[in-house]
Amino acid sequence: MSKAEVSLDHLFRVFTKPEHTDSTLAKIERHLSDNISDFLSQHVVTKKTSLEEIEKDFFSAAVPDSPEFVSEHAEALLDKLVAHSVNTYAPTFIGHMTSALPYFHLSLAKLLVGLNQNLVKIETSKAFTPLERQTLGMMHNLIYQQNDAFYEEYLHNANHSLGAFCSGGTIANITALWVARNQLLGPDGKFPGVAKAGLAAAYRHYGYENIGIMSSNRGHYSLSKTVDILGIGRDNMLTVHSPSQQLEAEKALAVGKAYQEQGNKLLAIVGVAGTTETGHVDPLDELADVAKELGCWFHVDAAWGGATLFSEAYRSKLAGIEKADSVTIDAHKQMYVPMGAGMALFKDPRHSNAVRHHAQYILRQGSKDLGATTLEGSRNGMAMMVYSSLHIFGRRGYELLIDKSIEQAKTFAAMIDAHPDFELMTAPILSLLTYRLRPSALAKLEDMPCDEASSIKKKLDSLTVRVQKQQREAGRSFVSRTRIEIAKYQGETTTVFRVVLANPLTTESHLSAILDEQLEIAKTMKLWSELTAIVLPKIA
Ligand SMILES: *Cc1c(COP(=O)(O)O)cnc(C)c1O
Repeated sequence: MSKAEVSLDHLFRVFTKPEHTDSTLAKIERHLSDNISDFLSQHVVTKKTSLEEIEKDFFSAAVPDSPEFVSEHAEALLDKLVAHSVNTYAPTFIGHMTSALPYFHLSLAKLLVGLNQNLVKIETSKAFTPLERQTLGMMHNLIYQQNDAFYEEYLHNANHSLGAFCSGGTIANITALWVARNQLLGPDGKFPGVAKAGLAAAYRHYGYENIGIMSSNRGHYSLSKTVDILGIGRDNMLTVHSPSQQLEAEKALAVGKAYQEQGNKLLAIVGVAGTTETGHVDPLDELADVAKELGCWFHVDAAWGGATLFSEAYRSKLAGIEKADSVTIDAHKQMYVPMGAGMALFKDPRHSNAVRHHAQYILRQGSKDLGATTLEGSRNGMAMMVYSSLHIFGRRGYELLIDKSIEQAKTFAAMIDAHPDFELMTAPILSLLTYRLRPSALAKLEDMPCDEASSIKKKLDSLTVRVQKQQREAGRSFVSRTRIEIAKYQGETTTVFRVVLANPLTTESHLSAILDEQLEIAKTMKLWSELTAIVLPKIA
């Protein structure tokens, strides 16, 4: 590769905008944009190249000494990076919560990067700050539905905030539970609060052995990062065994009481609205009552499922979410916003003051700087992407997308149910389902005596693993896989295919092609012949 000259003149040219439409930079821009469009319109998930092969393109740890021409570097990116990326836009990419984006985001991204505003303080963001506050207000309204007077008072109030915008669900969960912790262990008489005195002093002052957080064992792993970071400790993450995929209110109450009887204090119950593995929704309304009875915070992790609130038909699946003290929603999941858009929303706008931070040179008292109550410091204007999406789709547009996804998941579930060689493992509550390959002769497997069934089950598990890998490597389609415990096989985990229907361009024929491909792959395996040869004993 030829090297550009090392001179300030050359670097100035890199900084300045293209002067006319046929300038080099303008050409590069069009070239890149055409290439991305081509790449995204391919119906191939990923090019068949091994990771080891790709690593060879990224082997050197040396910082390049001399500058490269932008045009040549762009070519290298297209060749090494774009060509070997995963096409998350492909309608057969149905394994993850990340999916196709509406095309307008590419133009908006340019605006975002071009303006390069920093939301940490007003001086570097100006109009972006009220925009972010309004966006948080709209999402707050979607959940809590307060009256106009409430939003008039709090939307742009310097001493309150309706939520915290952040890079994703993990940070949103940490933020919400950080607020909960500081609220529980707040200033009290002469005690200045945990934020100032630290955890040890707070436990001594309040007389707690430990404080803990409870969720079902289907809670997202960001919760165990949270208890670690908040200093509570992973031993105080109470994960309740939930073969039904839901945190049952009775169990939650019993576990909470037992924990508190040992001199501990339960900090929060986390209800999940759309679990990562199966898309189940905890009984939020009942859990809110349990939290009240135990005297603890109620947080709802609706990172993925929160967008269901746009739908009149399915909103009730999240009934009780309005009772939560805080809610996490990721706009980069079902709201089709580029990655980096999470939110923690607070029912009570005073609560975020529990983590308010002031610094002399920045974040002055009484300012509207968003950085005073967010975990992250410098942040870009991602809220604009959420703001624009809310306008461009509108609630009714989002409703159409959500309804379509859920209905398509139901259709896919029916296809799996009707197919003799597949078994639906968890039916879709929202637009997520799990299933596996299971030769029709083994349909009555769960009624079998344990020993034999268990060894067949292990074979089915390994079939799922191998088919999933081979399908992913072939690169035409992608479903993910996970291990879950389901009610009919209590005490054991089962490996399943996991599908998230999010891409509006996915059709029924894509779905049936995915099943066909899986069956075809299975049929090439010796394991499949072994499994189809098994004759189950007649059950008396
Ligand atoms: C995705 C997800 C998270 C984590 O969000 P990130 O944006 O990946 O940090 C947390 N909880 C649930 C339920 C999720 O689906």
